[in-house]
Amino acid sequence: MNSPALSSGGAPAAAGALDAAALRADFPLLADRASDEPLIYLDSAATAQRPRAVIDAEVDYIVRANAAVHRGAHTLAADATELFEDARATVAGFVGADADQLVWTSGATAGINLVAYAIGNATAGRGAPASARFALRPGDEIVVTESEHHANLIPWQELAARTGAVLRHIGVHDDGTLDLDAAAEIIGARTRVMAFPHVSNVLGIVNPVDRLVALAREVGALTLMDACQSAPHLALDLPASGVDLAVFSGHKMLGPNAIGGLYGRADVLEALPPFLTGGSMITTVTLDEADYLPAPQRFEAGTQPVSQAVGLAAAVRYLENVGMPAVHAHEARLERRMRDGLREVPGIRLLGDADGTERVALAAFDVEGVHAHDAGQFLDARGIAVRVGHHCAAPLHRRFGMTASVRASATLYTTDADIDAFLDAVAGIRPFFGEG
Ligand code: PLP
Repeated sequence: MNSPALSSGGAPAAAGALDAAALRADFPLLADRASDEPLIYLDSAATAQRPRAVIDAEVDYIVRANAAVHRGAHTLAADATELFEDARATVAGFVGADADQLVWTSGATAGINLVAYAIGNATAGRGAPASARFALRPGDEIVVTESEHHANLIPWQELAARTGAVLRHIGVHDDGTLDLDAAAEIIGARTRVMAFPHVSNVLGIVNPVDRLVALAREVGALTLMDACQSAPHLALDLPASGVDLAVFSGHKMLGPNAIGGLYGRADVLEALPPFLTGGSMITTVTLDEADYLPAPQRFEAGTQPVSQAVGLAAAVRYLENVGMPAVHAHEARLERRMRDGLREVPGIRLLGDADGTERVALAAFDVEGVHAHDAGQFLDARGIAVRVGHHCAAPLHRRFGMTASVRASATLYTTDADIDAFLDAVAGIRPFFGEG
């Protein structure tokens, strides 16, 4: 990738040295806009824009190498398979993992459902005998947090309903931090699974992974971390974090849609039974039964999203070239600028406004007297794209006595000027609606 924002010679930029305005030239949707259609894109937590390198990688695969992977004997199929598996190694490496610890999924939602259904299959006694350790019985407990995205909540509700397990949750304090005292009480002998977000998509707070993993380990519970909102922003070492499983989503980390990753500890992936079954995940098949491949292929039945995997590998190479420490330093600065600015606007209430917590660059807030959708339209009319609604975290909004909020999220291509224009516009919302 030849980014003008990189220091000469293509060496990774040092932490804090990121030039967002220069990076923006790499993102066609942001760079190639007509001057009368300005866009301040503050919705990257929903879907990030893609650099040219990602678009090119995907198109190049389709134009030069498209074929069925892991199946054909011809050269093109071998080339496609090599690109697909290289992409796996690249993306796994980005989160500190080995290639065989990364299962391709169509996104984080698919990854969490895969795990929940695989655990359900262990209950039904299918798969490797080792999977019995995951079986849930009535009265066993699944623990989540009050700050989950629905993707990390509803699959567990369903699993509880199918198995008779009990779903419990760790609450959040008024300042948005997790109630760790309650966590220590709730996670106990009956806890079999604990699922939590690394970073909430509403609060932006980085949760204390070490503490949560330690509590789960003490009782032998399986941990699943939703890393959707951290993978694009923080350098991750998933094996070192101690979590058993983690998911992330390509389209939130500069990559294509319909691709994501499920990371698993080798022993966990080895013992989990499959969820989807069919072609590409078997060794021998008779009319009566089948033997399965080891992970990760055991979880990849059917035709896989190959061009998307190649695109996601290009996305993580882009992030690595910019340098995750530089990305984090830039975004931490933007986060402070945004939060400090919002605190000064009369009638703005930030959700989870804890001081002194590590965060990613997003802020969700209420505009007193103005519905979030009206606020969103007001900003859109000024070329500012934000997310409005409950952001797939309805229980968390209910916790704060709200049904909807406005969320602004920044990333590596967001500039200080974007944040300042956003803050200026936010200050105009309540006066416009006759509220301030
Ligand atoms: N988890 C979190 C924290 C998210 O922010 C999202 C997306 O909004 C998801 C899960 C679901 O991701 P996907 O829709 O890509 O499966």
